[in-house]
Amino acid sequence: MSGKPTPMMEQYLALKAEAGDALLFYRMGDFFELFFDDAKRAAAILDIALTTRGEHDGMPVPMCGVPVHSAEGYLARLIKGGARVAIAEQTETPEQAKKRGGSKALVARDIVRFVTSGTLTEDALLEPRRANLLVAVAPMRGGVGLAACDISTGETVLEECSEDAVDAALARLGASEIVAPDDVELNDATPRPRSDFRSEEGERRLKALHGLAMLDALGDFTRPMLAAAAGLFAYLDHAGRGTLPFLQPPTLRASGDHMAMDAATRTSLEILQAQSGGRDGSLIACVDRCVTGAGARQLAEDLSAPLAAKVLVDARHSAVRHFHADPLLRADLRAMLKSLPDIGRALGRIVAGRGSPRDMGQVRDGLDQARRIRDTLRASADLPSLLQTACAGLGGHAELTDLLGRALVPSPPTERSGGGFIAEGYDHALDDLRETSGNARRAIAALEAKYREETGVVSLKIKHNKVLGYFIEVPAKHGDSLMAPDSGFTHRQTMAGAVRFNSLGLHEEASRIAQAGAHALAAEEAHYEDLCARIVERRNAIAATAAALARIDVSAALAERAAEGDWTRPEILEDPCLEITGGRHPVVESALAKTGERFVANDCTLGTDDRLWLIGGPNMGGKSTFLRQNALIMLLAQAGSFVPATKARIGLADRIFSRVGASDNLARGRSTFMVEMVETAAILAQATPRSFVILDEVGRGTSTYDGMALAWAVVEAVHETLKCRCLFATHYHELSRLADTCEALSLHHVRAKEWKGDLILLHELANGAADRSYGLSVAKLAGVPPPVLRRARAILDKLEKGRAETGGLAAGLGDLPLFAASMAAEESRTDALHSALAEADLDALSPREALDLLYTLKAQVDETKV
Ligand code: ATP
Repeated sequence: MSGKPTPMMEQYLALKAEAGDALLFYRMGDFFELFFDDAKRAAAILDIALTTRGEHDGMPVPMCGVPVHSAEGYLARLIKGGARVAIAEQTETPEQAKKRGGSKALVARDIVRFVTSGTLTEDALLEPRRANLLVAVAPMRGGVGLAACDISTGETVLEECSEDAVDAALARLGASEIVAPDDVELNDATPRPRSDFRSEEGERRLKALHGLAMLDALGDFTRPMLAAAAGLFAYLDHAGRGTLPFLQPPTLRASGDHMAMDAATRTSLEILQAQSGGRDGSLIACVDRCVTGAGARQLAEDLSAPLAAKVLVDARHSAVRHFHADPLLRADLRAMLKSLPDIGRALGRIVAGRGSPRDMGQVRDGLDQARRIRDTLRASADLPSLLQTACAGLGGHAELTDLLGRALVPSPPTERSGGGFIAEGYDHALDDLRETSGNARRAIAALEAKYREETGVVSLKIKHNKVLGYFIEVPAKHGDSLMAPDSGFTHRQTMAGAVRFNSLGLHEEASRIAQAGAHALAAEEAHYEDLCARIVERRNAIAATAAALARIDVSAALAERAAEGDWTRPEILEDPCLEITGGRHPVVESALAKTGERFVANDCTLGTDDRLWLIGGPNMGGKSTFLRQNALIMLLAQAGSFVPATKARIGLADRIFSRVGASDNLARGRSTFMVEMVETAAILAQATPRSFVILDEVGRGTSTYDGMALAWAVVEAVHETLKCRCLFATHYHELSRLADTCEALSLHHVRAKEWKGDLILLHELANGAADRSYGLSVAKLAGVPPPVLRRARAILDKLEKGRAETGGLAAGLGDLPLFAASMAAEESRTDALHSALAEADLDALSPREALDLLYTLKAQVDETKV
């Protein structure tokens, strides 16, 4: 039978319609209940029991639930599981509902908040060492606006980029949640109505939020930035149902402020995440010695967006040097920082109206500690400018900390409804109320003694429970003696083994306690509101203190890391050079150290006359490691860190590119070679003479000739057109001939020795081309069985003989560079070459035939160009 839905079900369905694809947490007493598909999905993610409740359309309704008091943990798992959650609270008490609509009235409920990965403020739901960014993307005609905010701390950044730089910008930001207009196709973005992204609205909201008549004071906003800000506000309105979280005045980020890196480079350099997906094995895991969550978040941001201006980089280095040179100061400060609560996030919760007395206590303790940190820092001589600025941001809170110090108990509770967080002596009326209940409690204890004596029942007790309040209890056998009408006791309840009574005296004292308690709670609540308002008033100054503390933590932590690893301060230059003496790969070095192995340090010297190194040598010889270590050293230096080298002179890079040939990227649905070429094309299109490029066996993802031709053409383009600093690792011996024609290119190899038929990898870089490739020796090292090795040796001999007969492939390639380079000048160069070569199926031809074909192709291409 499909009866009419119950009023509760009607209410539920209406709220569910509002919640859309978010799971609806429907508050029922002490539980949040989920129904229908929501229940199935949540039960699966949370691994909790799925039951049923009543019927709908003749079918049992699936249901599951989580207790309200432990809801945070469940929420965290649902959000991690990719869900969004709508919280529907009871917006009136059952008593209010009865008053309104009679005994059967349904309690009113409303969605009070959407919980999504980008809009979290709860400690339990946030990772202490990771920022949690919500990013709104607004593609407009002129450019794409991005508005990023971490609502746990209120930090907000606005920027604009070109359409083809959006992916790189999003990769840098590493957002937890992205929102974009619904007419834009953007992977993983939550679609929102286009009308939410109006620049006029963004401007209006920003002015209103920060109390400004004009925005100029904050910077030069562009229309796309304002449109993105509008989109951000609209989404926050939606998620918070009209209550906006804490948002600091936005900072503007201009495209030239930072070293640019695209998404592929970030992945390849494993900056915040190793290729395996975790933090283990990443650069940050190896560098991060911060003792506060806020410091770790700042460091992650620094490493994601290294600076591009010498003064700023130098300033960071000077700060690190200050702590590096003074281990005692460093240790002192780090000990002080370690006890620091996360004031930024506590503040975020308070301003968003989700704070607790504990959060206020954290703000108090944090600001107090900030003052001590400032005093310690100021006492040290020759403070560099960055630390002076930080110091200036640490003080000025005396009035507030004094107030909070007097108002709050030493460790306030997380729950405010129970009171007990306002300190004694702060409010005399409150003290009196507390004294009243204290006196009454003592009076009750005295009553107990008195009644025992009067009745002669030594086991008489005065107890308290939620239902009855205070009562007198005696064992059943003494019940009768208190029942007498003139005993002064009134009977309340008979239990199996006990009888319970009331008395006039007890009733009076109990009422005093109840009344005083209610008044005290109300008083504490009023103080809470008042203290919150005082904190909110100073929110921007407190946020600035939190930021200054994070900066100090980062500087001291980098100094600690430098001391630990024997890192050195790099010298920063404007001209495009890279002179590294005794450079090491920080992550590989740390990994080797765990097994007691030593990392072999290597030098790198790139300059205007020698800016492209071609690096050969055996597999496993350390080519990739060398390439990456130099990119990482550069990145660390520009992020403000010391570097793992004995000496480093680094010319600022505007961009870093890192590419590994044929990296597996099947997940993105492109063939590995296609990815390699798309990424290579991006470098050829974007690198400038100030960039640094590392190319690791580019070209190996296709057949030998295609690959070699491409590698050749790419090296030439880098040398002739881009003129940037570049390290290029390759197995193609033939490329060494490029040294004859490219004057700023030099040949290098990682050394290996064969000893008694075994290969020894020295991991040492030497000048000159590699003498051979040792591929078979490495295969032997890896345990390829001897018969296969013998067969491979025979094939190799035959191939090499064939090559000699045709005059050598390398000789034949003499003209190929010209051909390839002419194509490389075109937009579609690599594609055209690749498809022409792929169609020809060069592998099926002999080297001679292949070369003939190449010349024919070249002629054809030349013709079409005319
Ligand atoms: P392939 O050509 O197979 O990609 P490769 O030459 O790029 O190899 P790497 O991947 O850089 O070699 O290095 C292989 C391993 O050798 C590393 O994982 C590391 O353990 C070790 N290694 C590399 N460089 C050094 C070094 N400088 N000192 C000590 N060990 C090193």
